[in-house]
Parts: sequence; structure tokens; C-alpha cells
Amino acid sequence: MNSNIANNKIIPYEMVLKSIRSTGELVERILPNGELDALRIGSKYIGNAVRDAVEKAKEGWPIIGHHFAFQREYLYCFDCVPVCVEGTSYLLSALLPDGIERYYDLMANWGHPFHTCSSQKGVMGMTLDNLFQFDAIITPTAPCDNTYASYPFFESKNIPLILPDLPFLHEEKSYKYYAEQIKLSLERLGEIIGQKPDYERMRNHIKYENETYKVQMELLELRKATPCPVENLFNAISAGIAVFASGTQDKLKFYQEYLEIAKKRYKRKQSYGIDEKIRSIWPYMLIFFDLSLCEFLDRELGMTILFDIFNYNFSEPVDVSSDLDSLFYDMARRGMNMPMMKESTDFYYSFIENCVNMAKDYSADCYVFTSHVGCKQFGSVPQILREALREECGIPMLMIDLDVGDKRFTSMKIIKDKLSIFAKTLL
Ligand code: SF4
Repeated sequence: MNSNIANNKIIPYEMVLKSIRSTGELVERILPNGELDALRIGSKYIGNAVRDAVEKAKEGWPIIGHHFAFQREYLYCFDCVPVCVEGTSYLLSALLPDGIERYYDLMANWGHPFHTCSSQKGVMGMTLDNLFQFDAIITPTAPCDNTYASYPFFESKNIPLILPDLPFLHEEKSYKYYAEQIKLSLERLGEIIGQKPDYERMRNHIKYENETYKVQMELLELRKATPCPVENLFNAISAGIAVFASGTQDKLKFYQEYLEIAKKRYKRKQSYGIDEKIRSIWPYMLIFFDLSLCEFLDRELGMTILFDIFNYNFSEPVDVSSDLDSLFYDMARRGMNMPMMKESTDFYYSFIENCVNMAKDYSADCYVFTSHVGCKQFGSVPQILREALREECGIPMLMIDLDVGDKRFTSMKIIKDKLSIFAKTLL
């Protein structure tokens, strides 16, 4: 293989690697111990995963783009480099000093509607700019219309697109159907890249996820404590880890190392930043274009983000000891109940009920709902949630209309002003 071609297949990952290295060095060299622990540990393990991907791309391994809703660990049945479309867009929007707005604009100029999800538009723009050269892309037909309507763009770049069909209802017959879809899709992907899926190897990678699940549950339990021993930024970094390192030992180690830090804080009844004054739950997404907001809330307002959508509602582990049919059934059940998949593809009753229960279980003082321009399927939920929280728990909810990956839609100044005014009404 021509090494220049191999080197040029995954340029944004090299950008991530460079940014994550400098971030890691800054944190190690400048900050005292105990500051930005999530970032310190996260940059080490995200860095490992991205370095590995860059090296394998150079060796000529196929680059497989995938929606975050198609679990990365399932792709380990191949020798391939999985690249999460949504995660790469948002990690780069957080890490690059100027963000990735220029790639959104490239897509807008190409003719793609401006109001679609920026999580996809980022990597789409980078692909249009020939920074990514995917060998194939796989995405379920969920969790939203943006996904289904945006991904066909990749076909215009002659990239084969595989679309496992994901049903709407969350019940046994759906899991069976989706299990079949996952298997057929992996087989189709194998034909495209000229490899036979190795399901035994895939099982081993799923095992890491099962181990990680136990640690995630322990951390979730610790967050019930007052003050919460988990810093706000952890929520964003753990989402980054999920995107770049799911199905690997790096993800497990990240969680294990961070759990020890959280336990120490818990034993000392120590909060991160200034004293915890307000406990908030963000039932949807954080704001990715400027993660310093997490520190602002911890240090200026004393507002804890107990968790965001990627840090609760963990899907039950897959039984890796079962036969192949049961394994795929479990993989489908898990996939359909992952964060954002569960909320965006199901009726809203369970989401509302879950939010009300979490407010009580975690002693939340308020909710903050980021109403992302892309998520039209979720547009009617915030008002219903606000009413439920007021009636059932007596707590308020702040709603912020924005694009979580594009700083031009609602500026960070406006967001901070809204949160500061809201915080004053709570104290
Ligand atoms: S559910 Fe919302 S955030 Fe997730 S991919 Fe769709 S539009 Fe984007």
C-alpha cells in the first residue's frame, strides 16, 4: 500500500492526538495534584486509543466510520480502525482553539441544511475536505432523523454505507429483529473490507465493557453523596473515552483510576471546586464547544453537574458466555438501550419517569436542559419534563436553546449569564 495514502486517511485523528498531547502536558506540568483529575487521566487513555488508531491506519487497516449508536466494541470482530463520527466532531470542537465551525460551513455551502446535527456535520465537512478516507460507514437507522437523512452524504464520496435497521418498539421481537440486522450488517461489512468477522475476538472486547459497567455503577452510586465527589468535567471526558476507547482495556482503566479518586473525596466529604451549593442534573447533553463551562460551574457557581445523558442509564451487560444467537440478542438489547438511543427512540414516558426518580434519588436541586437544534425528535419533551419536575419534585428546570457543537448559535457568554441568573434564583 502507498504509505502516503495510508497516512492521509485519518488526518483529524492526528489533530486530536496533537491537541490531546498538549492538553495532557499542560495538565501534568502546570496544575497541582487534585486539579482536573478527569482530564489528566482521560487525556492519557484517549491519547493511547487515538495513537493506536493512527498507527493502525498507517499500517493500512481499513477505516470504518460508525455512528456512536453502533457500538464500537462490535467492530472489533475485524482488524479495522473504528472512527466515531459524532464523537470525533465534538471532541475536535472542544479541543481545537477555533472549533470546527469551518467544516459546518463547508457542508452548508455544499447544500446541507444548517439546522441538522453538528455532531455529524463536523466529520461530514472533514470528509468533504478529504481529511478522512473511510473504507465503509455503518450506522443504525436511529436515533434521529438527522442520522438517517445526513449519512447518505457519504455515498456521494463513494463510501459504502451500511444501515442496520433499528425498530421503534423496545421489546423482545424488536431485539430479535435488530440482532439479525447487526449480524447481517457485520457480514456485509466483512465482504466490503475483505475480512471474515471473528466473533470470538469480539466477545473478548465486549468483556471489557461488562467490567467497565460495574465501575460505572459504583461511580453512579457515589454521586448520591453530598457533596458529589465527581467533578463536572468527568461527564465530558467519560463521553470522550466511550467514543475512542469502548471495548478496550483503556476505558476500563480510566474508570478504575477515577473511581479511586472519587472514593477518596467521598471519604473526606470533599467537593471539587468551591463548596457545592446547587446539585443539577443535565438529562440531555453537555455543551461541547467549550468544556471550560464545567469548571466555571464548579468554581464560580458551586453548581455540580451530577450527570449528563452519557453518564446515567447504562445499558445492562451482554452475556458473553452464551451461544451466538443469544449473544447477538443481548448486543441488540444493549445497543437499543444505550444513552440517547433509549431516550430518542422510545416514547417519552419512561424518560420523564426516570428523570423524576433521579431527581429524588440524587437530591437534585434543579435540572438544566440543553435543547439542541439538531434533536427535533426531542423538541416537545422539555416542557413536559419541566411540569413533571415541578409537580412531582418541586424543583425548577432551566432550558437553554443552542447548538451544543457550534458556538455561533448561542454564545458561551449568553449561556453563562443564563446559568448565573438561574443559580441566583435557587440560592
Ligand atoms: S439524537 Fe440529537 S444529538 Fe444525537 S445524533 Fe441525533 S440530532 Fe444529534
